[in-house]
Amino acid sequence: MVDFIGIRRVQELVGDLGPAAIIAGMAGEIEADYRRWREFEKSPRHATHSAVGVIELMPACDGRQYTFKYVNGHPKNTSKGLLTVMAFGMLADVETGYPLVLSEMTLTTALRTAATSALAARWMARRNSRVMALIGNGSQAEFQAIGFHAMLGIRELRLYDTDPAATHKLQANLARLDLEGLRVVRCGSTAEALRGADIVTTVTADKRNATILTPGMICPGMHLNAVGGDCPGKTELHADILLRPDARVVVEFEPQSRIEGEIQQLPADFPVIELTEIVTGRQPGRMSGAEVTIFDSVGFALQDFSALRHLYRLHQERRGGHAEIDLIPDLEDPKDLFSVVAAPAPARARPLPVAELTA
Ligand code: NAD
Repeated sequence: MVDFIGIRRVQELVGDLGPAAIIAGMAGEIEADYRRWREFEKSPRHATHSAVGVIELMPACDGRQYTFKYVNGHPKNTSKGLLTVMAFGMLADVETGYPLVLSEMTLTTALRTAATSALAARWMARRNSRVMALIGNGSQAEFQAIGFHAMLGIRELRLYDTDPAATHKLQANLARLDLEGLRVVRCGSTAEALRGADIVTTVTADKRNATILTPGMICPGMHLNAVGGDCPGKTELHADILLRPDARVVVEFEPQSRIEGEIQQLPADFPVIELTEIVTGRQPGRMSGAEVTIFDSVGFALQDFSALRHLYRLHQERRGGHAEIDLIPDLEDPKDLFSVVAAPAPARARPLPVAELTA
């Protein structure tokens, strides 16, 4: 039997601990894993593109444990009542190759993305950052808001989405959460949302080279957390922002970011820094208060490895909804796989008459 973490179990854990604690816990785990970067077998994810979206497989392994995530990205899905991003995944034991847990990863992706964004911003944004613009108010937005409120001390959120209903939903959810000292301001445009912002998070979904942020909107000292551009031909920043002489661009895993990140717009030798360099102190997160720091995030398998291990630990430690699924045969003689189908299953104890078998 294999452990199973479904949506209900994640609801239970988030209900018990609160989303901010889980995001902070995942951020700690992600940071620790980025510090032991060399122990991981890493590869860009395998992406299967179609005209409307992408389906991706994301493996990561530290030699002892292995994870993979199946995830999609379909920006038009919401018009059909479906999520833009949904996912599930697995944690397995390298010694035997056997799965330990099969898990939902739609909520886990949102939690780990917020955790990674806030972690990067903690190293890269100015220390006194209190105001964040949040552009794109869909599924990921609440998680980003909670992560930045808890981990960075953001006290003003300036919201904009081309879909006013998305902003309305985010505002209502944030009001219900009642995050300490948080002021939420609804804005009429991206430019208005950026006014006075220390940090700008872009988390929009559109399958094109969008220019959500243009050079004129950017002020010295800003930290940009660019989350939504994560596929070839799907970006959010005008290339000239990345080319600013005072810009510092950090990516999760350079070979994948060259294909999928904002930097796909730039020559292959454009200098970037990997997040591991920052969290190990080999490179500073920012050089001065005036520098424009950019976290060009696409989502890397290592973050799912860390997040899934964190979630599994919480699941094992805490009481409540433990479930298993019969995904792998349990055999007395491991060479006798046929015994699983030879032994009559209880519901089908009666052998079929020969006539039916040959019909
Ligand atoms: P979603 O569809 O639920 O929300 C996206 C929102 O962006 C929508 O409300 C849409 O109206 C808005 N939007 C689109 N164009 C806009 C524009 N020009 N200006 C302002 N708002 C605009 O999607 P989601 O699940 O919140 O995901 C958002 C994006 O983040 C997706 O592109 C997804 O692929 C990406 N993502 C990245 C990571 C990562 O690790 N970097 C992880 C998860 C999701």
